[in-house]
Amino acid sequence: MQFISTRAKDTSVSSSEAIVAGLSLDGGLFVPESFPTVSMDEMKEMIEMSYSERAARVLSKFLSDFSLEELMDYTEKAYSKFYDGDPCPLVAIDEQTYILELWHGPTCAFKDMALSLLPYLMTASREKVGEQSKTLILVATSGDTGKAALEGFKDVENCEIIVFYPSEGVSDMQRLQMMTQEGDNVYVCAIEGNFDDAQTAVKTIFNDDAMKAELLESGYKLSSANSINWGRLVPQIAYYVSSYVDLLSADEIEEGELINFCVPSGNFGNILAGYYAMRMGVPIGKLICASNINNVLTDFFKTGTYDINREFHKTSSPSMDILISSNLERLLFEISGRDDKYVAEIMNDLNTKGVYELDFNKLRSSAPNFMGGFSSEEDTLDTIANFYEVNDYLLDPHTAVAVSVFANYAVESSDETKTVIVSTASPYKFPTDVYYALTTTDMSDESVLACKKLESYTGVDIPEPLQNLSKRISRFTDCVAKEDIKNTVLNYIKKK
Ligand SMILES: *Cc1c(COP(=O)(O)O)cnc(C)c1O
Repeated sequence: MQFISTRAKDTSVSSSEAIVAGLSLDGGLFVPESFPTVSMDEMKEMIEMSYSERAARVLSKFLSDFSLEELMDYTEKAYSKFYDGDPCPLVAIDEQTYILELWHGPTCAFKDMALSLLPYLMTASREKVGEQSKTLILVATSGDTGKAALEGFKDVENCEIIVFYPSEGVSDMQRLQMMTQEGDNVYVCAIEGNFDDAQTAVKTIFNDDAMKAELLESGYKLSSANSINWGRLVPQIAYYVSSYVDLLSADEIEEGELINFCVPSGNFGNILAGYYAMRMGVPIGKLICASNINNVLTDFFKTGTYDINREFHKTSSPSMDILISSNLERLLFEISGRDDKYVAEIMNDLNTKGVYELDFNKLRSSAPNFMGGFSSEEDTLDTIANFYEVNDYLLDPHTAVAVSVFANYAVESSDETKTVIVSTASPYKFPTDVYYALTTTDMSDESVLACKKLESYTGVDIPEPLQNLSKRISRFTDCVAKEDIKNTVLNYIKKK
C-alpha cells in the first residue's frame, strides 16, 4: 500500500516513509492510495481475538511494509502499558447507547491509543527507510498530546522529545503530569503565553531552514507526533472495527446492522478514523461530530462553509478548543473525489482568508453520514450531573459534549440506531470541572484535592496513573519567552 498527498496525488510514498516524514513536502497530508476492506467474516473471526491482535490485523492492511508478526509485537507491547485489562472497553448504558472508553492508557486520554504505538512504528520505520540521523520530536500541546507523546517516546532509542506547553493554557492536572515526566530523552518547558503562542513558536522552528541545518549538523532531524502523522491515525481505525466486533460478540447487534458513532472532536483525527473504518466496510450509519462552543465544525456540516474568523473560547473541554481542524483536509480530499488541486486551493483560502466554502448539496451527497452538533458550557455541565444521576456513570467534559450532542440529535432525528459514544478522557483528568458539575463547589486550581473529593463523592476510583501525582518529583519547571524557544531547543541538543 502506497500513500499519496492530499495536495499532490502523484507524490507516492511507502507507509514507513509516510510515518518518518509526518507531512508531505507540498504541505499536504498523507492518505492511503485506496481503502482496504474488512469483511463481515473477518470481523466474526476477530470475536475470538484480543484487542492487540485485532489492531494488528487492521494495521497490517495499511502498513504493508510491516509483517503481521512485527505489528503484533508492537501492539502487544503498546497495549500492555494500559492499566487495566481491556484497552478500550465498551460499556452498555441503555438499549440504544454504549460508551467506548478510550482512556485506560498511561495518561488517561484517548491520545494513548495511538501514541503508545507510534514510537514502535517510528523506530521500525526509521530502520526500514535507513534513516541515519536521530529523530527530534517537537510538540506544542494544549495538554493531552504532550503528556501522551512523552509517555510514548520516553527512553526510545535514537529519539529525543521536547514538549512546549502554554504557561496559562493547560489544566493543573495536565501541568503536574508533564512536570513529573520520567525518562532520559525528554524535556518539558512552559512558554509564556497561550496555546497559539506555543504552537506558532514550534511551527516557526519547523519552517526555519538555518535551524534545521544546525540540528542536522548535530545529527538530528525533526518529526511530529501530531495527528497529521499517518502513524497516529491508523491505530485509531482499529477501535472502530473492534467495537463493532464487541457488539456482535455480545449479541447486541445482528450481522451487518448499522451503528452510529458520536465523537467529541477537535482536530478531527478521531472521527476521521471512524470514517476510514466505514470506508473499509464496517456498517456505520451516522458519524456525529460533536463540538463545544468552538463550533466551527458544526457550522461546516450544517452549511458547507468553514470559517475561523470568530472568537476563540476557553472551555471546560480544552482539548477541543481548536479552530483549525487539520484532519478535515483528509475528508475534503475524499468528498471532492480526490481532487488534489481543489484541496490545495481551498487550503490556501483557509490560510489567506480564514474561510472556504463548499457547495452544500455536494457536501450532503458526498458525505451523507456526517452530522454536526455542539454543546454549550451549561449543557455540558448539566449533562455530567444528569448522566451521573440517571446512569450512575461519571463523564469527563469532552465525553459530556458528545452525550449532550447525541441527546439532541436523537430527539430531532428520531433515529433509533444503536450508537457508540466515544469517550476520550477519564473524568479525573478534569476533576475541578466535573466536581463543580456535580456539587457546584468551586475548587479552582486545587485539582489534586478535587480528585480526592470526587472519589469520595462518587466512589469511582482515581485511575492508577493519576494517583500520587503531587508526591512525584517535579523535574521540569522552566518557563521561557517564545523568542527563546529556538535557543532552548539548541541548548538541549548540545547537552546530549
Ligand atoms: C484530543 C482530544 C479530543 C479531540 O480529538 P481530535 O482527534 O483532535 O478530534 C477530544 N477529547 C480529548 C480528551 C482529547 O484529548
